[in-house]
Amino acid sequence: MTNRQSPAIVLQVTAHAEADKIVTLFCRDLGKITAIAKGAKRSKKRFVNKLEPFTSLVITCRPPKKGSLFFLNEAELVDAHLFLRSHYAGYVTAAFISELVRRFSGDQDGDPAVFTLLSWALEALEQPKNHAVIAVFFLLRLLDACGYQPQFSGCAACGCSIEQQPDFTLYPGNGTLLCLRCRQHSRGSSLHLTRQTLKFLSSGQQMQLSRLTSLHMSTNNAYQALRVLCSYSRHILQQDIHSWKSLEMIIRDPGRNNTIDWG
Ligand SMILES: [Zn+2]
Repeated sequence: MTNRQSPAIVLQVTAHAEADKIVTLFCRDLGKITAIAKGAKRSKKRFVNKLEPFTSLVITCRPPKKGSLFFLNEAELVDAHLFLRSHYAGYVTAAFISELVRRFSGDQDGDPAVFTLLSWALEALEQPKNHAVIAVFFLLRLLDACGYQPQFSGCAACGCSIEQQPDFTLYPGNGTLLCLRCRQHSRGSSLHLTRQTLKFLSSGQQMQLSRLTSLHMSTNNAYQALRVLCSYSRHILQQDIHSWKSLEMIIRDPGRNNTIDWG
């Protein structure tokens, strides 16, 4: 098997045996892969400070002869995203984003759009912007990239537009929107979305990625959107999104938005 090279972002790192690390990466050209970095815990040169969550790298790896574990030969540091290591809200949001990528991506299913989106989100989190808003737009665009784009134009049952009704719900079962009138006739769990939040979401689906950080969404609207999109995502994945709880706590209690002391 010949070596492969690709830009990659570290999603998760675990220790393995005495000296090795197992790294989950999202690669632009290979998609999500799991690789073993032999001697990474001891290595002074090859991997030092590189195999940390959210780090951008260019990796050289060898595909497995059998099974799914790649062998990581080398990693060149592109961006350590150090800001995220010292800001709790940014770190928790990045953890949420990387969990979503791990859960929504199949192994070795390369998708440059997801790689671009992940790179955009990590860069955006380095700016002192509202991290909850970045989480909203990230999840929204990830759903689009994975083929689960919800429809925010109007009620799926009666056809009324979001200009005609102030409040809607998104049904996690199929990602369709229902107005308050139609909701009364439907069953199943639902979550509330105001017209204002829907307008943000609709713009967020259409705007260029590079312009998304210029949209100003209130924390309340972002929280409302995240609750609904997380509920929809859990339904698609049939799995819990563990890091949502920590992110939710920060959004509800911004006092936790502290600098972390890593000791
Ligand atoms: Zn309706």
